[in-house]
Amino acid sequence: MKCDRRFLMKSTVGIAAVATTKSRLSAAEEGRISAAELDKAAAAPVLKIASLRSPVKIASIDLLRDRNNHFVRTRSTDGAVGICVTNSRAAYLYPILQQLVAPYFIGKDARDLESLIDGVYLYRSNYKLSGLALWCCVAWVEFSVLDLLGKIMNKPVGELLGGVVRRQVPVYVASGNRDTTPEQEVAVLARHIEQTNAKAVKFKVGGRMSNNADSMPGRTEGLIRIVRKKLGDNITIFADANGSYDSRKAIEIGKLMQDYGINMFEEPCPFDHLEETKRVADALSIPISGGEQETSIRRFRWMVQNDAVQVVQPDLHYNGGYIRAIRVARMAAEAGISVIPHMSGGGVGYVDVLHFASCTPNLGDFQEYKGNISQTGSWYDPPLRLRKGAVNVPTGPGLGITEDADILRDAEPM
Ligand SMILES: [Mg+2]
Repeated sequence: MKCDRRFLMKSTVGIAAVATTKSRLSAAEEGRISAAELDKAAAAPVLKIASLRSPVKIASIDLLRDRNNHFVRTRSTDGAVGICVTNSRAAYLYPILQQLVAPYFIGKDARDLESLIDGVYLYRSNYKLSGLALWCCVAWVEFSVLDLLGKIMNKPVGELLGGVVRRQVPVYVASGNRDTTPEQEVAVLARHIEQTNAKAVKFKVGGRMSNNADSMPGRTEGLIRIVRKKLGDNITIFADANGSYDSRKAIEIGKLMQDYGINMFEEPCPFDHLEETKRVADALSIPISGGEQETSIRRFRWMVQNDAVQVVQPDLHYNGGYIRAIRVARMAAEAGISVIPHMSGGGVGYVDVLHFASCTPNLGDFQEYKGNISQTGSWYDPPLRLRKGAVNVPTGPGLGITEDADILRDAEPM
């Protein structure tokens, strides 16, 4: 079975895209990778900011909002400013940010960002809140501090996070529909491909955390049976169950996916049911992906070491920012597997992914694209464009949003 998986990865159209680092049997599949090796990979220093000789003392961290977005703005005592756009969950997570996360960073040296992220986990017993609600808030502070440091160093954040290795990022277009018929959904996917020239798509299967129930009778099987034929052999096709199945049903659906040329099966089982997910991975030859709700580096380690997923998908917001996502990516690299981050961000979530993609060697070949580049791409110089199925990585300092964009123009402090 293991050899089958490798064979399929090499032979199926586009799947080399998913597992670019998997030209050999992965270390996890061979069962020869230790927890200690993965811990070591995760713990290695991430930031490359040695040229910053003087302290960068954090003076303030503010949350602002306008009609459409929330922003976190960090200022240093020397007047440097970093700004990030949060995901939409800031609308109700802000008390955690303001009371339990931001105060810890005030007065600290931003150059110590890596250790500060460990420190804020302990501060005021925040680890008792460990989960997405806490780590989103940490991520927003981290993003804004990285923006600030990048502006001081006049470098994009990818350079601070290890070094830029790519400037164009091919994307897959994700459809979130579960209320379409198979025929309607294939038409939606075809339209996305036509509009973006993307070479990869993702569609939803199952009912979403639904104990094996489909969103409408027969939709999942019907869609799997027609999508490859309708989209042709040059498109990479991902399917996402959002935890719809137990392992028995997931294996049944996964085998159908294998028969009909689907290239990756995302979150077959409830996200925290790691043993069930591994059971599915062991039974199938197509790669299983997962991790979008995961916020524990040790549970990511378990997934990688036990080959429960063949593609890890940390969310850059949910899992606490770039540094922690890079720690996950490095464990995956150690095991010879790739990473495709989940994208939760709103207006510029796709840009968060672009920066991560710019500096992550073991990246899957297609990254998630949602949002509207025609509204936010002009915030950057040069503007971001989706051309031939790929988006250019911002090259400006920090996160790359220009001062001309004046994104806080209509924002009020919260
Ligand atoms: Mg998903």
